[in-house]
Amino acid sequence: QAEAERAESHLEVHTRDSRFVEVAANIGSSEEARLAADNGADGVGLMRSEFLFLGRDRAPDEEEQRREYQASVEAMGPRPVVIRTLDIGADKQLPYLQLPTVPNPALGVRGMRLWQCEPELLDTQLRALLGVRPLRHLRVMVPMVSDASELEWVRERMEAMAAEMRLTELPLLGAMIEVPSAALCSASMANVADFLSIGTNDLTQYGLAMDREDPMLASQADVLHPGVLRLIQATLDGSGGRCPVAVCGAAAGDDLVGPLLVAMGVNELSVEPARVAAVKARLRRLDASVIARELDTLLALPDVDSVRQTLAPLVESAL
Ligand code: PEP
Ligand code: MG
Repeated sequence: QAEAERAESHLEVHTRDSRFVEVAANIGSSEEARLAADNGADGVGLMRSEFLFLGRDRAPDEEEQRREYQASVEAMGPRPVVIRTLDIGADKQLPYLQLPTVPNPALGVRGMRLWQCEPELLDTQLRALLGVRPLRHLRVMVPMVSDASELEWVRERMEAMAAEMRLTELPLLGAMIEVPSAALCSASMANVADFLSIGTNDLTQYGLAMDREDPMLASQADVLHPGVLRLIQATLDGSGGRCPVAVCGAAAGDDLVGPLLVAMGVNELSVEPARVAAVKARLRRLDASVIARELDTLLALPDVDSVRQTLAPLVESAL
């Protein structure tokens, strides 16, 4: 079976009810981009650029960054590569940034909020990204966005920089949906973004007010909570098909949650490179309409346990 999965892993995926779903990969380096390409990923859905900045005593300069982003784009050939701007703060800290210690770092200066405090750091990264060729293969994604005006601010900055660099084309610009306010404001977000990508790890953390690092809450911090599912549904409803919506959190690669996300209308699942072939094989067997018919019932359930109990046999019957 693994052999058959591998053979088909480089082909695009349509579900049995004819939904086209892209299966992309999450990576942390250009080396992993090569792995993603070998495993048949339709693109990179999330490159966590912070790995380039961790474990060293100063930030990588523009040229070092550009080479790493360029290598990732080249590894994927014609397929799109989404590179996320630095998502530092909360659980990930850099020794060369003297950020004040705060009681709730997960609610503090992290993701794009860092741009205001460390403009040089983020501008250098943006310049390195704009140095990649061809720019149409690159997509820039911004983490921890809470509304459209924040993404608009990044776009203006990118346009000004592109004008300085005398560029004639710009990469697509998207926002992560991982703060509940962004999910609820997705209609205005979709007017500003070229694409949206739901980060279910943080959307679950912030939606349920449960620290994703807290082992005592690990079993309860579940994306299948009806409240979190409603935030995902709100994102899809708000975007109204005006821009594609991906999911790049761990839930995308889950056997139970992945099919549900496709039934809700998600256009792309971005998963660990090693999961690409298995996720593609499963989606080929899926009739998502079977799950779609039950969405209202699922979202009206009162808690995680009842969603799991209802969803498990439903997904089995849809395969
Ligand atoms: C997420 O929050 O779901 C996500 C993909 O980003 P990270 O796990 O890097 O916070
Ligand atoms: Mg996140």
